[in-house]
Amino acid sequence: MAFAITQTCCNDATCVSVCPVNCIHPTPEERAFGSTELLHIDPRACIDCGACADACPVDAVLPVDRLTGGQREYARINAAYFEQTGTPARSGPNLHAWGAPSFDRVLPPDFGPLRVAIVGTGPAGMYAARDLLLHTRAEVTFVDRLPVAGGLVRYGVAPDHPATKKVGETFARFLTHPRARTYLGLDVGADVTAAELAAHHDAVIYAVGAGTDRRLGVPGEDRPGSVPATTFVAWYNAHPEVAPDAVDLSCERVVVVGNGNVALDVARMLVTDPKTLAGTGIAGHALAELRRSKVREVVLLGRRGPEDAAYTRPEVLALKHLPGVDLLIDDHDPRIGAAVDASGAGDKAAVLRGVAREAVDWSLPPGAAGRRRRIVFRFRSSPVAVCGGEETRAVRVTGGTAEPEIPAGLVLRAIGHRGVAQAGLPFDETTGTVPHERGRVAGRPGTYVVGWIKRGPSGGIGANRACAAETVGSLLADAVAGALPAPAGGPRAFRRLVRRRRR
Ligand code: SF4
Repeated sequence: MAFAITQTCCNDATCVSVCPVNCIHPTPEERAFGSTELLHIDPRACIDCGACADACPVDAVLPVDRLTGGQREYARINAAYFEQTGTPARSGPNLHAWGAPSFDRVLPPDFGPLRVAIVGTGPAGMYAARDLLLHTRAEVTFVDRLPVAGGLVRYGVAPDHPATKKVGETFARFLTHPRARTYLGLDVGADVTAAELAAHHDAVIYAVGAGTDRRLGVPGEDRPGSVPATTFVAWYNAHPEVAPDAVDLSCERVVVVGNGNVALDVARMLVTDPKTLAGTGIAGHALAELRRSKVREVVLLGRRGPEDAAYTRPEVLALKHLPGVDLLIDDHDPRIGAAVDASGAGDKAAVLRGVAREAVDWSLPPGAAGRRRRIVFRFRSSPVAVCGGEETRAVRVTGGTAEPEIPAGLVLRAIGHRGVAQAGLPFDETTGTVPHERGRVAGRPGTYVVGWIKRGPSGGIGANRACAAETVGSLLADAVAGALPAPAGGPRAFRRLVRRRRR
């Protein structure tokens, strides 16, 4: 009986490197790795050794015969990947092709330990730290402006995804590594300057993510009751900068603009039975509000059709198996149903096969009968305005013959994150990133970026592993080449500086 990779796959490919028969694909060397939603195990070749399950940081790998409920679909999804791509079955020893030997990341033996500051303790910063702490003698200074470490793993992952949150435990052990020192609640730019941080380290890596949300640019966007999905996510994760009363769930319908995985996360949280959320890491104030919630329907507004939706299929599969929740596709445009009907097995639209379709009459009260709740996918539709007076009452949208108004008391915009300019660093306003070359910040020797502030807000947790490897590779190459500016002070001086600033 083979193993299968399931919904929580983080794509960091740790499993690939431990599989003795090379049957997990796509590998980081294969072109499909950059766009795959999850990795797959070839059931024809798996020898059932369990090495991948032991190595997986998010418990995504399970024996096929132990899959339950909605997980069972992943046996078929794993096998179908190999049928559709024609990836041949592997057996025997792991035959990864080795490239020519490369020594550019090896520091000479007489090289003293590098002192590297990492700003941000989310996945990107922690993958960089792991690389430095496990593969070099570097000393790492972690700096995070928040009082709790973890970045998006702590404050961005939904509490009903405990397996994904578990990767945080893997990262957290590096915070207490003997060669690491951690400063929480220290804001670079406010408490210490970027120049001061640089002056006490050989190099600084910024892993600050994309700290704000993209705006809709429509009238009424800032009306009370129209908030970024990032605020909602931070609210239920007890982010210290979001007030406990930041979200009011006294309305019956919520419109979520966007249909990426964040949009699906917030929709799922809004309709999940609060009983199943108790005991997760959800904030107490959020659980109390969800228990009082009057929300019966969540509308997911997507600009494109189901064939090009931004979500990944595992997140929709999770919605399909949510107890007490109906899914509906608003059939306001004939191209939507046609795309679902014409979809092949591996196509994105195919995940919506079997979901009910009807042209929703928005003048009627929110749907779904009795105690059931409903999620409505409205594709090929964009917001034109958030309407209301002192509070949000509706969203006017495109699509269909007119511009209908969808009554809603809460609008969450989930159309993506955006990087924020960092004091002392260059910034590209168009992309919301710091200009760099393989992680090196342009015009700032000894300064590097990793994660979303480097490549823009795309890719999940695992995508940061390769991103961090590239940045750390650049840093080490610069160290060997003597291109890092000499620091004026050491760790003790930095400690004293921080103590002074915190008085
Ligand atoms: Fe490879 Fe063993 Fe995992 Fe099968 S169980 S995919 S053989 S590591």
